[in-house]
Amino acid sequence: MTLLKQHWRASLAALLLLLVTGWTAWEWWPRPAPAASEVAAASPKARQTVRTPYLANWDQVQLAEMEGQAQRFPGQVWLEGPTHRRLIALTFDDGPAEDTPALLDVLARHKVHATFFWLGQNLAGRTEMAERALREGHTLGNHTWDHPDMVDTDEAYWWDEQLARTQALYKSKLGIEPVLMRPPYGHISNEQIAKLQDKGMKVILWSLDTQDWNRNRMLFGRHNIERGLQDYVHEEAIVLMHDGGGKRGKTVAAVDALIPWLRAGGYELVTVDQLLGIQPYRTMPQAMAAAR
Ligand SMILES: [Zn+2]
Repeated sequence: MTLLKQHWRASLAALLLLLVTGWTAWEWWPRPAPAASEVAAASPKARQTVRTPYLANWDQVQLAEMEGQAQRFPGQVWLEGPTHRRLIALTFDDGPAEDTPALLDVLARHKVHATFFWLGQNLAGRTEMAERALREGHTLGNHTWDHPDMVDTDEAYWWDEQLARTQALYKSKLGIEPVLMRPPYGHISNEQIAKLQDKGMKVILWSLDTQDWNRNRMLFGRHNIERGLQDYVHEEAIVLMHDGGGKRGKTVAAVDALIPWLRAGGYELVTVDQLLGIQPYRTMPQAMAAAR
């Protein structure tokens, strides 16, 4: 009887060990480079969609709302690029902040240009950082002044105090007026989208959320950010990440590892304006236009 019991215990322990080892191997084994595309590069997408699943209990905008707005405002609201070229646009929100220089170092080392949606209040004390990003070929966009939920606020607030104030700062400090904007939380009303269209600004959402804002707090955060992209990578993706709003070291490390992985799969990294074939700024200094 005792012998049987011991035997049973040993079997259970062995099974558990096997499961844990198997899971660990599966989870940590390097993912192969992205598979070849099965769709012609020039073929248009039928509709724009968010590929990453909805994250419950974080007051996030429903994916159907984002997708509905992209469908309702073609050419004005973008979740991803329009066709199936093997391009991908990395975007970083909420900076500039303390981890931004390290991210710029990584991007420079890999010769990659990215798109930043920055907050006016953070830009205010960091002109040199912003000048560097611009000089190094990155695209700068508007993410409001201090990150409010814009919906249900009046135009004197969401435009004058938030977006226009940030536009004015960009113009005075860097001589640019960004065309690209991203609403905080991806939350924006149809009425606001229509008004931004009149003002010549494009609304850029995303098709792939790495959830790095949450995963930077996790033990295996860098790994999870990498997997977050690798499991949902697709042609002409717009990828949501963050260089501000908290510690972003794991995002920086993940980007460093992801760039070679993407290139091994034939992906070219581009800015959002390159992906969409539009101008990034309403006014663009001659020298900059020549450099791009
Ligand atoms: Zn944000």
